[in-house]
Parts: sequence; C-alpha cells; structure tokens
Amino acid sequence: MNGSVVTYTLEHCVRCMKCIKACPTSALRMSSKNRIVVDDNRCINCGNCIRSCHNRGLLAHGSTLADIENYEYTVCMVPGALISHCSSLEEAEDLFHAIRMLGFDEVVDITEYSGVALKEAQLLAGSSDDMTYISSFCPVINRLIVSKYQGLLDSLLPINYESEIAARQIRKRLAGKNVGIFNLCECEAKLSIAKYPYQHMEFECDHSLALADIFPLIRKNMHQGRDEVIFSKKGLQMCNPVRIVKDDDYLIADGFDKVCSVLDMAEFGLLNTFRLLILYPCFNGCIGGHMLWGNSFLMQNNIDALTGSKSKQSAKLDADDVYVDQLIKVNKDTRTFLERTKFFSNVNKQLEMLPGYDCSACGMQTCRIMAEAIVNGEKTIDDCRVLAALKEKSNENQ
Ligand code: SF4
Ligand code: SF4
Ligand code: SF4
Repeated sequence: MNGSVVTYTLEHCVRCMKCIKACPTSALRMSSKNRIVVDDNRCINCGNCIRSCHNRGLLAHGSTLADIENYEYTVCMVPGALISHCSSLEEAEDLFHAIRMLGFDEVVDITEYSGVALKEAQLLAGSSDDMTYISSFCPVINRLIVSKYQGLLDSLLPINYESEIAARQIRKRLAGKNVGIFNLCECEAKLSIAKYPYQHMEFECDHSLALADIFPLIRKNMHQGRDEVIFSKKGLQMCNPVRIVKDDDYLIADGFDKVCSVLDMAEFGLLNTFRLLILYPCFNGCIGGHMLWGNSFLMQNNIDALTGSKSKQSAKLDADDVYVDQLIKVNKDTRTFLERTKFFSNVNKQLEMLPGYDCSACGMQTCRIMAEAIVNGEKTIDDCRVLAALKEKSNENQ
C-alpha cells in the first residue's frame, strides 16, 4: 500500500490506548519502549485514531507553504468539498482570491475533473449488465478493500483520483516550466496522494496541504478581492452524494460502519443487483471530510447557488488521462497455502493460551493480534499482563 500519514508525538501521549482500540485494521500497537507504532502496511489512513486521541498524540500534517519557494510557478488545486462551503458564487470567488494571496501563481478549481471521474464511473456502470463496480474516488475505501476485502479488488473502478487527473492536465498545459502543484486536502487520506510530505513519488501532484493547517491563513485573506471562477455541477455532485442523480442501479452509502456493512454484503454477492456502489467513509461524503469545518447538511444546498447562473461542462479528456491500470499498490501474500494454514494454526494455538479479554494491556489491539505477534516473534506469552498478574497472584497464594 502507499504508507501511513499518521505521525506520533511521544511527549503528548498518555498511553490511554484509545487509538489502538479505534483502529479498524489493527494497524497500531504500543511498543516495548512504550510508544505507539503505526504499521504502514495495515494503515488505511482513515484518521479514526487521530480523532480518538484527545491529547494530540497522533496527527497528520501536509507540506507547508514554505515549499512554494522551490518552484518557478505554483498552482493550488481546490477540491469541490471546500468549494461547497461557499453559499454563493461571490463567496467562492472571494475564497479563490484568498487562496491565491497565500503565494500561488494560479488557483485551479478541480470540479471539472471530478465531473469527468463521476461521468466515466456512471458510463462504465451503465455499460454492464452483470458487474457491480465500486467507486474508487476515496483512498480510504481503496485501501480498505486491499486490506480486508481483496476478493472485491476487481470491482474497483479503474478511474484515477480527481486530483491526479487534474494535476496531469496542469502539467501538460505548463510543460517546460518548473511547476509545483499543491493539493488542498479535506481529509487525512488525500494527504497521501502527492509526492510530499510522505515521499510518494509515483503521483503527479507535488504537495498535499492539510486544510486544517491552511484554513486560518486563508481566512485572514478573505474579503480582499475576487477571482472569477465557474464550477462544474457534476463535479460538485461527486463530493456531495445526496446530490448525485438518483438511479435505482446505484447504492450510495456514507459513514465508516455503513460502508463496511456494504462491503461485507458485496463480498458475499448480496448486492449483485446493483451496478455501482458509491462509498464514502465520511458522513455526507467528502463535504463531511474531517479537515473541513461547518455543517455538511447545509453544504448540500450550496451546489445550486454555486452553479445556478453558469456551470462548466466536465473536461473532455483522453482515456489515458482518466483510467489507470493499477490505482493502488497491493502487497500480495507470497506465502503458500500450506504456509498460511500453518501460520493460522499456530496463531490459534497461541490464542487458546491467552485470556481472551482483548484488554490491550499488552499494547496490542486484541488477543488475536497479540497471538499473531507471538507467532511472528515480536512478543512472547510473558508479555500478556493478565497472565503475568494471575501468575503473580498464584505465587503469592502458595
Ligand atoms: S490515544 Fe493513543 S496517542 Fe493518544 S494519548 Fe492515547 S495512546 Fe497516546
Ligand atoms: S489512520 Fe485509521 S487505519 Fe491508520 S492507524 Fe489510524 S485508525 Fe488505523
Ligand atoms: S473526504 Fe472522506 S470520503 Fe472523501 S476522500 Fe476523504 S476520507 Fe474519503
């Protein structure tokens, strides 16, 4: 997979274990040195751990505006989810001006490219009578499928991320210049779709900027001018699932738990009558992204205000610019069937020796994860605090 964006600060950590419990993929553990360790291969960048920590022990940051200095020409890409916060076109034009004042040469609205991605998804779904596609717009969903639902990998739409489609067009248009492309991100997951700050060199976009970090600076620049901008209605719909055109063949689900239920059902073939599953781990879709502020229900109403008088058509692009062979890296399990069977049998043997309380006192999320760590040689049965306490008590009673 593409690595985790979660960073840990030892000084802020009170070792409450809440983050370990909150992780849906068991990617966190407390090491023997009493610090939280993130497993890059398990983390899906959902941000649940960050929100569960009340001490700012875990965070996800993007690049900083200082990186602007490294380029001859800089472009900032603005997602539909941020634009949807504006209740009028005038407010959106004010926002674009404020972002440009941060030091960018150009500010690009990417809704016309989001619109392309949504249109292609609907075309593909409409062209099939027996395939159930799963939307690939959200990096969390893609990584969740790689992590827990590998049987559904072939159902993922082979459509690139909207920011990557946009970045490729920007790079083509400005070929020959030393261009730095920055993406404003409304969630932790999108921070991972750029070269920096997490060294993911395979992407077209150069830098991810966390809206949570940048927004106070944008606010300072508001009400100082306007940059004219026209949005794509279809592009704004993509981050706003309530407004996606209704179709009986689509199942649209939001919220992490609901999305997992949908994937569970899809894995068992229970949703084969649908042609397209559009899934968002955030409530109300990307407009509910965790680095955004405000009420996502109110934002649903803003599309008409932003596109009522004039709306941009989705861009017309070559298939190569939209489709991808492999959207996400898959770490294939290279073990033979026999090796895997032996591993699970050893894990089950260890599990039988553990108390089964899933208390996390050993630093692992559950007794099963502890049993796996013992089989992998990372822990020993003596690291189980409950067994150690029981042993101590029995020694005292003798
Ligand atoms: S939630 Fe995790 S990072 Fe935060 S204080 Fe508790 S153990 Fe430390
Ligand atoms: S971001 Fe999500 S998957 Fe990654 S460590 Fe945190 S809770 Fe686990
Ligand atoms: S805002 Fe939420 S739904 Fe949208 S890409 Fe990010 S994690 Fe996925």
